[in-house]
Amino acid sequence: MRDINTFLPFWEGFSVVNIKPDGDGLQIDLTPHTTRFPSCGGCQKTCSTTHEYCERVIRDLPILGRAVRLSVLLRRVGCRDCGKRMEAVSWLDRYARMTRRLADAVIQACERLPTLHVAQMFGLHWDTVRLLERRALQAALATLPKAQPRRLVMDEFALFKGHRYASVVLDADTRRVLWIGGALMTVYLMKAELKTLWAPSSAWGWRSAWQQWLHHAHESEIPPLIQFAKRLKGYWRGIVSRVRWPMHTGQLEGINNRIKVIKRMAYGYRDSEFFFMKIKNVFPGNP
Ligand SMILES: [Zn+2]
Repeated sequence: MRDINTFLPFWEGFSVVNIKPDGDGLQIDLTPHTTRFPSCGGCQKTCSTTHEYCERVIRDLPILGRAVRLSVLLRRVGCRDCGKRMEAVSWLDRYARMTRRLADAVIQACERLPTLHVAQMFGLHWDTVRLLERRALQAALATLPKAQPRRLVMDEFALFKGHRYASVVLDADTRRVLWIGGALMTVYLMKAELKTLWAPSSAWGWRSAWQQWLHHAHESEIPPLIQFAKRLKGYWRGIVSRVRWPMHTGQLEGINNRIKVIKRMAYGYRDSEFFFMKIKNVFPGNP
């Protein structure tokens, strides 16, 4: 039995020394392979001195429906460059209380299930799941390239059974959600005003309508509108002769349907900022 445990391939660098029931779950005790020198958690260099051993309880993926708690013996090493540091573990992030694969599984499940369901499925606290999801969303959104919209689509949708409304501004060409928020009236007015830009028959009439819109865009404090206004500024002469086509908003329906699905899944979201992050993440745009 001991030999089999030693070669369980789930915890690189560690051997299983014991598996025992822990309430409804399982506790698995792990110790580092004695043949392996630890590496520094700061700089990853191999260290030959171990200052002390620390036991840390770490959650892992459930096994056969049972929650898994690992009791891991970790080495605190003496690194020449970083000083005393916890050893680096390939399947564990620094300071983490759960394995990377558990965190990844939780984040993946969050794409399809409400937070509460995911928490129940993995036997985790709601707050833990939400924190993981929030971090993952922030990280994903931070990697998006700077938006370069040429045409905007603006619309609004009901947030909570028609009680509150949110507005969404998207890049018409990439379908990326650029901004989402509660400032319905502003976006609604900007949209209506932008339409009036199509109406003037003379270039001068258009110019003054445009200047008014520009002014309101700046006052709106909605970043994509301001950015869009800035971009348009350089082109307005060209636009006068071109913008006679109506904006086609058919793609908006698809987006509204997806938002409805996220909303249904996210019932109980009181945190609209989080909800908006989720929507942005679903529509990163396709160049
Ligand atoms: Zn180091």
